[in-house]
Amino acid sequence: MGSGQVNERDTMTDISKDLELVGVTKRYGKTVAVDAINHHFRPASYTCLLGPSGCGKSSTLRMIAGHESVSDGSILLGGRDISHLPPAKRGTAMMFQSYALFPHLTVLDNVAFSQKMKGVDAATRRKAAAEMLELVDLSKLADRLPDQLSGGQQQRVALARALITRPQVLLLDEPLSALDPFLRIRMRTELRKLQQELGISFLHVTHGQDEALALADEIVVMNNAVIEQAGPARDVFNAPKTEFVARFMGGHNVIALPEGHFAIRTDAVGLADQGQLEAAVTAVEYQGTHVSVTTRAIGDQEITAVIKDAEFFENPKAPGDTVGLTWAQDSLHRLIN
Ligand code: ADP
Ligand code: MG
Repeated sequence: MGSGQVNERDTMTDISKDLELVGVTKRYGKTVAVDAINHHFRPASYTCLLGPSGCGKSSTLRMIAGHESVSDGSILLGGRDISHLPPAKRGTAMMFQSYALFPHLTVLDNVAFSQKMKGVDAATRRKAAAEMLELVDLSKLADRLPDQLSGGQQQRVALARALITRPQVLLLDEPLSALDPFLRIRMRTELRKLQQELGISFLHVTHGQDEALALADEIVVMNNAVIEQAGPARDVFNAPKTEFVARFMGGHNVIALPEGHFAIRTDAVGLADQGQLEAAVTAVEYQGTHVSVTTRAIGDQEITAVIKDAEFFENPKAPGDTVGLTWAQDSLHRLIN
C-alpha cells in the first residue's frame, strides 16, 4: 500500500470535525452583512442556512470557505482557527455552480483539475477523479465535455470537483436553484444520500423553507445579518421563537391574545360552533387531502385552519359563515417578538 493511501485512510477516520463560528462579522463599507454571529455546527450533519435574499447567507458561507475575508470574529474547524487560511488549506470546499466547469476539459479532467494544480501525477489524479465520478454516478460520462451533459449531470461534476479535495465541510450556495422542479427534488435526495455516505458535514444555503425541511438535520434561520433561530428541523418548524421564523417557515398562524403573541400551526386550529375565538370565514380552498379555511377574527387577524377533508365535509363552511376557532393550549408557542 502506497503512502498516499495510508494518508487518505487517516483523514477518512478523522473527518467529522466541528465547525464553529465565534462573533463572525462581515462589513462591506457601511453595510453590515453578517453581524457577530455565533454557531456551533454539529459534526457529520446536514445543515441548511435558511433566510430571505440579502440576509447574509452567502457572505457567511464565503467567509467559511475563505473566499471572503472576515471583518471580525473567528472561524474554527476541529478547534483550529482557520479564519485567515487560504481556501485550499482550510479543510472546506465550495461546490460552485456548474457553469464554472472548464468547457474544453473532459468531465474526468475537470474533476482532476485541482490535483493537477497541486502537482499530483497524472495516474494518481485520474484514479482519484474516477473514484469521485463513481461516487456521483457519472463514471460512464467521464470522457464527455461539459456541454454534452444535462444540467443535473453538470451539477454532479461540480460536486465531484469539490469532493476530490476531501473536505471536512462541503459548502453549497443555493445548489439547486438553477434546476427545474423535478430535477431539484431528485438532486436534493442525492445530496442527502451522499452526505450520509461520506459522513462529513454539508452546509447548504437556501432561501426555500421546503428545501431546508426536506434536507436538513439542523436549520439555521438568518434574518437581517443575524441568526434568528437554530435547531433541529422539526423544532424550528414546530416551535418558532419569533414572528419572523413562524411566518418564514410557513404553515403557522401568528395570533395576538391578551397573554401575548403566539404561533400555532394551521393544522392545529379546529372549527366548532363555539371556540376560543369567534371568526368569520373569508375563503375556503380545497387542497385534496385537506381543506384550508381562512377566517378573520377579532382585531382583524387572519387565521387559517387546515382541516382534514373528511372532517370538513361532515360540516362544511362557506365564506360569510361565523365559526368558533379551537385549539389545544399546548399547541400555542409564545413568540419573543
Ligand atoms: P444572501 O446570500 O442571504 O442573499 P448576501 O450575503 O449575498 O445575502 O448579502 C448580504 C448583504 O451584503 C446584502 O445587503 C448585500 O447587498 C451585501 N453585499 C453582499 N456582497 C457584497 C459585496 N461584495 N459588496 C457590497 N455589499 C455586498
Ligand atoms: Mg446568496
